[in-house]
Amino acid sequence: MSRKPHLLIVEDEVAIRGGLTDVFVFHGFTVESAVDGHEGLRKALTGAFDLILLDVMLPGINGFEICNRVRLNDRAQPIILLTAKTSDADIIQGLSLGADDYVGKPFSVAQLVLRVQAVLRRTRVNDESLQVLRLGDSLEIDAANLSGRRGSEALAFTRREIEILQCLHARAERPVSRDELLHEVWGYAKHLDLETRTVDIHIAKLRRKIELDPTTPQVLITVRGAGYRLLVH
Ligand code: CA
Repeated sequence: MSRKPHLLIVEDEVAIRGGLTDVFVFHGFTVESAVDGHEGLRKALTGAFDLILLDVMLPGINGFEICNRVRLNDRAQPIILLTAKTSDADIIQGLSLGADDYVGKPFSVAQLVLRVQAVLRRTRVNDESLQVLRLGDSLEIDAANLSGRRGSEALAFTRREIEILQCLHARAERPVSRDELLHEVWGYAKHLDLETRTVDIHIAKLRRKIELDPTTPQVLITVRGAGYRLLVH
């Protein structure tokens, strides 16, 4: 995008809010902030932002609830959750509410900037090209609209799920490792165990959507010791 990306930071801790604002302004963003859940939700629902950095533990309305309300309004709004909560259950809750990414506190600011930039890059690609993936006899995925169908059943995807499918589809002749997915889809150079589990959680969610029987995948298969592979026909 030629204009500066517009970022909303919803964070009640003044030092973090101020620090993030300075960092993102330095990196060429325009930044607005909100100090609690009510202000955050009101601003987030305006749809004016290219990306929302959303703290989970907030006074008023928590970040999960804000994420949920924004998703009901706009399924494509890029959102990154910021939180000290990094248990599997919290990650699953955040991802199931449709967050594009999930960054545990304390985080590296340099890493956060890279991840924000990675989400924005992918958002632009999806905005600019309508891509339809067809898998097997009955599965069709509309990447631009985060939707699809299997037979007569309508499917809804998160942006991250679409990106995983696109990454696997582009390499459909071979398996893609979890490291490669973390690099290509999440933008990580290196990763932690937490992030490896995040890949598995996403794959499990995707299978529940696209597989007739998620326990015996026929489309998104596991290749033992090598990673995941998408069978395109
Ligand atoms: Ca907080």
